[in-house]
Amino acid sequence: MSEPRLYVIGLDGVPFTVLRDFLDQGIMPRLRELAGRSVFRSIRSVQPPLSAPAWASFLTGRPPDEHSVMSFTERDPRAMRWFTPDARQLTAPTLQEMASDMGRRVFSMNFPVTYPPKPVNGVSICGFLGKDLESGVYPEREVPLLKQRGYRIDSDVALARHDLPAFINDLKTVLTRRLETAMYYHDREPWDLFMVHIMETDRLHHFTYEAFQKGDEAIRDVYHQLYGMIDPFIGALTDQAPPGSRFLLLSDHGFTVLKREIYLNHWLWEQGFLRFNHPRPAHLGHIHPASVAYSLYPGRLYIHLKGREASGSVPPDKYEQTRETLRRALTGLRDPVDGAPVVAEVLNGEDVYAPPGLRAWHDPLTAAYPDLLVIAREGYDLKGMLWKGKPADKTVYNGMHSYDNAFWIAPQTEKAAAVNDIREAGVFTAHLLTEMF
Ligand SMILES: [Zn+2]
Repeated sequence: MSEPRLYVIGLDGVPFTVLRDFLDQGIMPRLRELAGRSVFRSIRSVQPPLSAPAWASFLTGRPPDEHSVMSFTERDPRAMRWFTPDARQLTAPTLQEMASDMGRRVFSMNFPVTYPPKPVNGVSICGFLGKDLESGVYPEREVPLLKQRGYRIDSDVALARHDLPAFINDLKTVLTRRLETAMYYHDREPWDLFMVHIMETDRLHHFTYEAFQKGDEAIRDVYHQLYGMIDPFIGALTDQAPPGSRFLLLSDHGFTVLKREIYLNHWLWEQGFLRFNHPRPAHLGHIHPASVAYSLYPGRLYIHLKGREASGSVPPDKYEQTRETLRRALTGLRDPVDGAPVVAEVLNGEDVYAPPGLRAWHDPLTAAYPDLLVIAREGYDLKGMLWKGKPADKTVYNGMHSYDNAFWIAPQTEKAAAVNDIREAGVFTAHLLTEMF
């Protein structure tokens, strides 16, 4: 008789309310059965709600400042350079590593922040931001098989900019290969921890969420088709799972309709807080020493601080005063098109990132997190590119992440029902691992 297994399925960017409606409408009958005998509720993401820090918080059970992957783009202030954090930045063990250390067999497919792959007792296939399969898969001997199956890390997002139908077809192809390949591995060996992350839902939402929310029938059909492809996969896993196996399904953030992109660095420039030493600023080295502040996506604001930023000129004793000036100005930021207020609130970095007991000891010269976090009102995406030549725009993106309304499906226990956010979901999952194994 086979031993029970732990299954973790991540559906990137799937809102609780959308999934609930699809279950009610019979779009996903197999998931409906599972959800019907499980905890099924909405949970919160991390702030800001980006896939990398959110999944890293799930995989480690730690908040972003503790596992240290806070976004897709971080900056090295000493060098005034951007970089993309990856699994090497993680300062806490992941679920995959914990299970491996218990001597359990692990299969992990496509989770963000698993690149470059760490050795596990099993197979680890990286998620998006992974460069390629050759460098993204542990053990390397699995690579030819994945290639032969036509497995891809991600869909061709560039396609969405000029040919939406072709992009949607590409999403379906990538998802089909992903699910087939996951099933192949599932049948190959009785894994103790079986984890699959699906990115195609998030990708679809970014380019179609407005039409979906407006009730566009063709787009609703596409959603039903894509979500409908995931349902038999979940059904097959639940059919084949040995008795006593547990299923956890979750998303990393919700989604909302994107009204407008606001280019925060352009606004800082207009307001005189940011200057450049280049006519087409393209990297942090193009920031003029006399600048007061600059921003990284989404809404993360850094004071151009002397002693921290290589080119910084704001003296540390003017730090709090500068934060206050910026906070007041940001609060008044308006949509340049219709004059609507853009900013919901401006938070101190330490109040978002530092543990409550350490907030009073916030030291800007050593803190890695932003000095201010600007929380936008619903529908405003606070972009971080240095130069766009205009204050705002609506592009091909019409859906954006939301902090609320991620979903959580877990075995019906009091502890599972008490999970409120994705980090707590990670803590719960780690406990379940130790309980089961
Ligand atoms: Zn996304």
